Amino acid sequence: MTTRDRPSATKILLATSNQGKIAEIRRLVEGKGIMILQPSDVDIDIDIEEDKDTLEGNAVKKATELNDLTGLPCLADDTGLEVSALGGRPGVHSARYAGPAGDAKSNRVKLLNELMGHADRSARFRTVVAFVDGEGTHIFEGTCEGYIARGERGNAGFGYDPLFIPAGFETTFAEMTIDQKNVISHRARALARFLEFLDKRMR
Ligand code: IMP
Repeated sequence: MTTRDRPSATKILLATSNQGKIAEIRRLVEGKGIMILQPSDVDIDIDIEEDKDTLEGNAVKKATELNDLTGLPCLADDTGLEVSALGGRPGVHSARYAGPAGDAKSNRVKLLNELMGHADRSARFRTVVAFVDGEGTHIFEGTCEGYIARGERGNAGFGYDPLFIPAGFETTFAEMTIDQKNVISHRARALARFLEFLDKRMR
């Protein structure tokens, strides 16, 4: 029996339709008595604008709007790639780095072009997770340090994964399995803090 089938599972609605994020988060909560729903599971089709100037602001906005709409406990993740040689850009603007279409391939091409000629390729992913339910708003953060590769490598994952080599590794996130990425990723670290919080609250 999976967590999806368990009748007593705590339902949490994710404020995203990004299938890459959903797959990672579902795997991270496996066996923890949590049923992860996506907006389409509750017949919602909305695209909440990420117009705040911080990851925290966007995560809280997304989780709050969805909680207001559904009354369900809602979890939102906002992630940014902070590149040292670019003064922390694209950061909160990572999704629309190459323009409003939010196309992952053009974002990666722009990043490689902007880094051309820079010796320092260090970068970090930062995820802020906001959890909003009837009892309040809670924020959790996770980071993953690493480097930007000189070209794309790998087919797994999503977004900037083909360009990001986590510190201590030779492979990009896109050359790892979801389980390998989930041991070290920014999102996994933020989620671990959230799960600790839930665990304490349920005791
Ligand atoms: P958001 O959190 O969906 O706003 O993501 C911002 C941008 O970062 C988007 O372009 C995502 O594709 C990208 N992104 C978010 N998380 C990851 C990740 O774990 N790996 C690679 N790219 C990511």
